[in-house]
Amino acid sequence: MANLNELEKNGAFLDAIPQVPQGRYAHFVLVRETESFPLFQTDGTLNVIRVRAGQKDDKAISRLVMFKRKQSSPERLTGRELLRAFGVIADDADKKCEYNSEDFCKHCPDCIHYGYAIGDQGAEKSKVLTDSAFSITPYEDSHKAFSFNALYEHGTMTQKGETRSSFGEQDHIVPQVFFPAVETLRDPTYEGFVYVLGNLLRTNRYGAQETRTGKVQNHLVAICFTNGEIFSNLRYTQALHDVLGEQAAPLNPDTVLEAAASAYRTLIAQEPVSRTPEYLGNDLAQLAADVTALYQSEEKTRAFLTALDTKTRKYAGDFGASKKKGKGKSEN
Ligand SMILES: [Zn+2]
Repeated sequence: MANLNELEKNGAFLDAIPQVPQGRYAHFVLVRETESFPLFQTDGTLNVIRVRAGQKDDKAISRLVMFKRKQSSPERLTGRELLRAFGVIADDADKKCEYNSEDFCKHCPDCIHYGYAIGDQGAEKSKVLTDSAFSITPYEDSHKAFSFNALYEHGTMTQKGETRSSFGEQDHIVPQVFFPAVETLRDPTYEGFVYVLGNLLRTNRYGAQETRTGKVQNHLVAICFTNGEIFSNLRYTQALHDVLGEQAAPLNPDTVLEAAASAYRTLIAQEPVSRTPEYLGNDLAQLAADVTALYQSEEKTRAFLTALDTKTRKYAGDFGASKKKGKGKSEN
């Protein structure tokens, strides 16, 4: 756990979750790769937007869009499963927390990190910042329409001599479509960092409801700690497009990840922020391996979740919504 231990000790983290933003950011620079047929859609059609292809390449293309919540909701649900498995969320009165309801507990690691809003009872702003992500390849190369039959229970289209004509067609995103994305944790504590990174590494199913999901792999390109926000997902996608040049889909994942690292270096060099520490290449792989090893150990996971829960409860007790007066709005 060389890199993770070193990171914990070198001053990258705050000891406690602060009430007021401290201008400290941990950025997870990712490429999300589809590995089956997820649906990122609204009202039955895939989300698509027309934008400029690159920063240099000025033609307009249509890109698939993965909106904020399509990214953050599955990740927070992954985290909540873990909290429940280790009894941080449970049925006891002081551990009860019901997702997307009036019974959000307002103090668990999920409520405090990913935020909530409960009518006029208060809200907590999300400390995990996401933004819409865009496919590198154009919509035309990134989806396929499949027709489906509405079968009777015995598995055919025919019942009592009559053949059903109801079948439909649905656009699906195809495998190996890449969505470059930056996810940011504001004012990170060590435990919050391990929690949010763990959720990124442990979530591999995205989409709206259960039937609409598909496999997505999150590849880490860089992790950097800065004193400000950095480039947008659209700029990152466009810079990556410029590095790749015109390539037919499906793109080669190795080529995409190399191009992503190159685009990251170009863009981060233009940002008016300090960045220490910064993890790329082998250092990043080691850090990710350290976090993976932590989650593979039940004992270490329990210890870190207990420390995490203590920190979010302390924050909730000192500054949480139950302490605040008046209404608030949540970002998540
Ligand atoms: Zn909660």
